[in-house]
Amino acid sequence: MTLSGEAIASAVASDFDRQVDWLSHLVSFDSTRGNEEACQDWLSVELAARGYAVDRYTLAEVALEGAPGASPVVDTDYAHAVQVVATHRVERPEGRSLILQGHVDVVPPGAPELWSRPPFQPVVIDGWLHGRGSADMKGGVSAIVFALDALARLGWEPASTLHVQTVTEEECTGNGAVSTILRGYRADAVLIPESMGHRIIRAELGSVWFRLRILGKPGHALADAAPGGHAILAAQDYIAALQALTAAINQGAKDHPWFGTIPNPVKFNPGRIRGGDWLGSVPSWCELDCRLSVLPGQDLGELRDRITACVAECAAGLGTAPPRLDWIGYQADGHVIAPGGAAEAALERAHRGVIGTPLEPVCLTATSDGRIYDHYHGMPTLVYGGIGRGLHAPDEAVDLTSLRQTTEVIARFIADWCGLRERG
Ligand SMILES: [Zn+2]
Repeated sequence: MTLSGEAIASAVASDFDRQVDWLSHLVSFDSTRGNEEACQDWLSVELAARGYAVDRYTLAEVALEGAPGASPVVDTDYAHAVQVVATHRVERPEGRSLILQGHVDVVPPGAPELWSRPPFQPVVIDGWLHGRGSADMKGGVSAIVFALDALARLGWEPASTLHVQTVTEEECTGNGAVSTILRGYRADAVLIPESMGHRIIRAELGSVWFRLRILGKPGHALADAAPGGHAILAAQDYIAALQALTAAINQGAKDHPWFGTIPNPVKFNPGRIRGGDWLGSVPSWCELDCRLSVLPGQDLGELRDRITACVAECAAGLGTAPPRLDWIGYQADGHVIAPGGAAEAALERAHRGVIGTPLEPVCLTATSDGRIYDHYHGMPTLVYGGIGRGLHAPDEAVDLTSLRQTTEVIARFIADWCGLRERG
């Protein structure tokens, strides 16, 4: 590196107020699923203004079906699922190429009464920027953009090809990340700055999403419904059966090489339910949408077979036909990111230089886009970022001191991994 850590620190610090304003604007977009277009359009303008070659496209333009890592999609229109790839290219690249990825889709805020302030009206309080998506992971997106800005203001640019990718669908399928690969973007390493508390993901769980469409035997509400005849009450039985399946999987996970020491790592979440039409009638239908974690090494097809058998057994107990079972989102493998790669060593140097501690690995019981690049497409991937709270919960916020440090770490990592040359 031809640039000192101190120079990077002061360049990031002197521009940090502008970064926080920029991030506040990014968080003000309600970019829940199906609503990401305006946010992505703003980003594509921001990135083009910085001189990157911007590829803006939608998932409807990409043949996702059957691609490694792609998941089935329902309930959304991919003609509005905008993806943005901003590319920095140099003549005669010298260093190693890099993808910096952030996702801009955010999970729904949930009950508004549980938020101390409106989720899409960001505000800074006591050094934290509050708002849905601030930590997961628009803060990380700002760190990518402003790390590159800091290098540019110091008169430098990456000496190799670099792609800044802002994707959607991270929270439900991973298809945004998959699409960038199908579009031809590859690199020698990938960095995804999720809020990891300045740790790096070593292993993570996958997940499967599925929907049960439970049918009842409709009749007048005053008549007694037979067991299984009441579609909403029957959902309770299916939930209990799937909880028992989850407990059995967790029992078997006690000697898992990566998750054995974590109590009950596999989570079953019946996350959404709707059904019935009329209070005077026994509900004729109920849809139960569920998520179940997947351990590294667990075969997805086998797990789906176990879920199918569990549902069928429960239906038999109720004396009804099994409900229709659809796979409606994530079909994501669990995944281990092998330690010891050159990219991780470069990140370790950058992290140590800024934070001053060794880089600690973490086994995550959630799912990130890391698997798409690393597991399915063989690109060494680093999932590393700063401190956040309230992820997928009310009152989400990102720690601004940590965000500034993360921006510094990324700038140092780019300098190390890609090499730098003077801006022409
Ligand atoms: Zn995330």
